[in-house]
Amino acid sequence: MRNIVLMGPPGAGKGTLATKLREELHLVHISTGDMFREAIKNATDLGKLAKKFLDSGNLVPDDVTVGLVKERLSRDDCKNGFLLDGFPRTLVQAEALDRLTKEINRPIETVINLDCDTNELVRRISGRRVCKNCGAPYHIETMKPKVDGVCDICGGPLFQRPDDNEDALKIRLQHYVTSTKPLLAYYEDKGLLKNFNSLGGIERLFDEVTNFLSSK
Ligand SMILES: [Zn+2]
Repeated sequence: MRNIVLMGPPGAGKGTLATKLREELHLVHISTGDMFREAIKNATDLGKLAKKFLDSGNLVPDDVTVGLVKERLSRDDCKNGFLLDGFPRTLVQAEALDRLTKEINRPIETVINLDCDTNELVRRISGRRVCKNCGAPYHIETMKPKVDGVCDICGGPLFQRPDDNEDALKIRLQHYVTSTKPLLAYYEDKGLLKNFNSLGGIERLFDEVTNFLSSK
């Protein structure tokens, strides 16, 4: 059984890693964002409740989120392992997750944390550009378009998303580090935490993670 919590700051390669783990190890990838959207679309009781909070611009309370996570992790497709992404975000949520995964007899076995230097993350994210017309992604250092500022695919103009600017990012990352520290300590104490560094690129990260998982 491979029941995994995936943690890491924006830009650390979490999405790419999750996609590869899903495709190559057939783990069910559960992102809380997707989970909310699905529950709301299907108009389940918890989905309706979550929608009420989201529509009024509020955070969804923990008990609603925990209920959704429990419902999702109980499903048959999670019996051979899952990759939980975007949850827990707080200590209270982590404790709730412990209780619920014990109740359904699918306890968390590994917490994969992507460690990444803040300056490196800023460099990665602040270099992102997106095509205004077709949405194709670029990077001014690692994925340059053939012509500066012009999309290779459709010729549209490239732009930088407002929240990808350096100052906003530094604040966001600092906030992430501060808020997840207690969570990392919690999992460290339980002997579940495993840190990986994504600086060497996604292929290497994926190899390290799969080697680790197969050695368990
Ligand atoms: Zn384009």
